[in-house]
Amino acid sequence: NSARQDKDKEVNVQVVLRCRPLSDEEQRTNVSKVIACNEHKREVTVLHSIANKQVDRVFTFDKVFGPKAQQRSIYDQAIAPIVEEVLEGFNCTVFAYGQTGTGKTFTMEGGKRNKGGDLPAEAGVIPRAVRQIFDTLEAQNADYSIKVTFLELYNEDITDLLAQEDPSRNLEDRQKKPISLMEDGKGCVFVRGLEEEAVYSANEIYTLLERGAAKRRTADTFRSHSVFSITIHVKEAAVGEEELIKCGKLNLVDLAGSENISRSGAREGRAREAGEINKSLLTLGRVINALVEHSPHIPYRDSKLTRLLRDSLGGRTKTCIVATISPSAHALEETLSTLDYAYRAK
Ligand code: ADP
Ligand code: MG
Repeated sequence: NSARQDKDKEVNVQVVLRCRPLSDEEQRTNVSKVIACNEHKREVTVLHSIANKQVDRVFTFDKVFGPKAQQRSIYDQAIAPIVEEVLEGFNCTVFAYGQTGTGKTFTMEGGKRNKGGDLPAEAGVIPRAVRQIFDTLEAQNADYSIKVTFLELYNEDITDLLAQEDPSRNLEDRQKKPISLMEDGKGCVFVRGLEEEAVYSANEIYTLLERGAAKRRTADTFRSHSVFSITIHVKEAAVGEEELIKCGKLNLVDLAGSENISRSGAREGRAREAGEINKSLLTLGRVINALVEHSPHIPYRDSKLTRLLRDSLGGRTKTCIVATISPSAHALEETLSTLDYAYRAK
């Protein structure tokens, strides 16, 4: 039946573009802007002149958010529908992709927390998703549990960002906590040795984010990927003796700076690093292209990031890529490369 086939062939990859405002410093030094966003037409125009000739380029995305867009409107328009899918029992992933300094972490985690229980206006995707999940399940009076993991991928090595130091263990044990990717034969992926934290209220998420942020290799966040995963189990009404459990997972991924992708000719000593980061970012691009084109072979196995996310990419899942750019003339080259990468993912 062809309607059914169409449904199977549906591509559930959405690409959203966000342009940050000029920073105070950029405004003070009169940096010129080369990006114009038209949210209504879902277009981004790159104002570009070569030898005094205007050669603007226009890109269209599923959604476009200009410098004035609020965290809340991005969440409500682009992310909330994905979280609804997760609550229905599916696995979904949100990526932030872009050059360092363009707002990936601002988009995913958000600005600093206000004291008090309410979501601050600057709260990003992670706290808003957690809030939506708790609010929905509470309103349904559901019997549920929520667990989160937070990891960093750096040079294809995984670090657990939630693992607490255990002072009773000797130094060698503490340093060598092996974390490895395993597959269970049914295509499900799990990370052995990773701390899973049960969360009982939306506000706890800030403590976990801070704990994770403190463990991130602060100097290297521009070269590492971070993956925050929320797993939800909801007990459904029992059918006879059997108890049905609905399980959904949401991965929120803050990718390494996309400038790493164009750094293959990196200086000696950095070459391996650049290569390894290239590997995850490039493989992710290829996986998404293959999914969009319904290719029979999806190269999940070619990088750790795509192996890790395998059960949440493709099939009955939804993926959203938030590509972030700077409006500044100084970032022009990187901006064009981000727009090209993101456009190809559509
Ligand atoms: P990245 O994670 O991509 O390297 P950040 O999220 O750290 O970039 O953003 C760089 C700086 O720009 C931070 O100071 C951040 O607060 C600010 N910023 C980014 N996006 C926005 C935005 N949409 N509105 C206001 N400030 C932003
Ligand atoms: Mg960042």
